[in-house]
Amino acid sequence: MVKYQDIKSLTSDELKKWLRESGEKSFRAEQIQNWLFRGQVKSYDEMLNVPPSTRDQLAAAFRIHSLTEADCSESSDGTLKWLFRTADGHHIETVMIPANDRFSVCVSTQIGCAMNCAFCRTAKMGFTRNLEAGEILEQIIRVNWHLKTLSEDAPEVTNIIFMGMGEPLMNLENVHRTCCTLHNQKLFNMGRKRMTVSTSGVVPRIKELVDRNTPCCLAVSLNGTNDEMRSRLMPVNKTWNLEALLAATDEYTRRTDNYVTFEFVLIKDITCTEQAAKELVRIAAPRRCKINAIVLNDSSDAELQPPEAEEIDRFLEIVRAAKIQITLRNPRGRDILAACGQLAYQQRKVEHADTKSA
Ligand code: SF4
Repeated sequence: MVKYQDIKSLTSDELKKWLRESGEKSFRAEQIQNWLFRGQVKSYDEMLNVPPSTRDQLAAAFRIHSLTEADCSESSDGTLKWLFRTADGHHIETVMIPANDRFSVCVSTQIGCAMNCAFCRTAKMGFTRNLEAGEILEQIIRVNWHLKTLSEDAPEVTNIIFMGMGEPLMNLENVHRTCCTLHNQKLFNMGRKRMTVSTSGVVPRIKELVDRNTPCCLAVSLNGTNDEMRSRLMPVNKTWNLEALLAATDEYTRRTDNYVTFEFVLIKDITCTEQAAKELVRIAAPRRCKINAIVLNDSSDAELQPPEAEEIDRFLEIVRAAKIQITLRNPRGRDILAACGQLAYQQRKVEHADTKSA
C-alpha cells in the first residue's frame, strides 16, 4: 500500500501499481498525471478521459489537493506571499518573486524546521513534519493558478527555489520526488538549472543528492567564514563543520560539473566585517562558486542586527577586489514578512494567543 495521501506525491510507477491492484488499467497513470501536472486541474471530475468509476476510486483513496489558501499578501515590489493551511491544520508559506520574464517560487519543504538557525523565524516554530511531494508541488500549481487569473496566456512559474520553511535535505526523499516530477519532460518539463535546493549544511545528504542524481542545482547557506562564527549562527555546524561542508561541496562540483551557490547573510559585527570578507575570499577563491549576499532581515534574535550601508559596501569591495562573483540580493517583500517563516510564525502566535484567551 502506498503511504502517500496526496495523489501528486506518487511516482508514475507507484500510480500504475495502485491502479493494477485496484483492478484498473495501468495506462491510466499517464492520463491522470497529465491532468494533474499539465492540466493542473482542480478536481477529479475534470479528468475527462478517465472513466467516472476510476475517478471515484481515486477520490476515495487520495486527496487531489492538500492545501487551502489562508492568506495572500502582495508587497510593493510585486512579491507575493501565500500562507497555506495543510489538510492537518498547519501553516506553510510560499513566496513568488516576479522579475522581468521570470517567476521564481520559493517553496516550503517542511512544517517548521529543526535546524535552529539563530537568524530564522521558522526555527522558533520547531519541527512538526515533512511535507509530501504532492504538498510541495501544489504550492507551485497554486501559484500557476494565480498567474492564470491575471491573463489566460500568462506564463507559468519558471524557477523553483527550495528555500522556504524547512531544511530540504532533511526531507530529501520528497524533495527528490518533487524535482523528478518537475523535470519530467511529459509533465512540467523544467530544466535542472531552474531548480535550486538550498541546505544549511547537512553534509551526508549533499552526497546523497549527487548519488540520486536529483535534477537540481545546489545552494549552501554559508553564513559564517569560520567554525566559531558559523556554529554560533547555525548549530548544524557543530555536527558537520566548515571543513566537512566545503569538502562535500567540492565533491558536488567535481561529480556534477556544476558550481555551488553560497548564500551569505550580512549581520552587523558578525558576518559583515573586513575579517569575514577576507575569510570569505579564502573560501571562495579556489572554488567554482557564486555568492549571494543578503542583508539580515527582521531577526528574532535581538543581538543580531543588519549592518550599516558603509559596512556592506566595504565588505563587497574586499570580496570583489579578489574577483569573486558576489551579488547583493534585494530582500524582496520586506513589507509582507517575506523572509522565511515569518508569516507562519506570526499565524502561530495569533493561534496561540486565541487558544490562551479562549
Ligand atoms: S534558515 Fe532554513 S534551515 Fe535554518 S532554521 Fe530556518 S528554515 Fe531551518
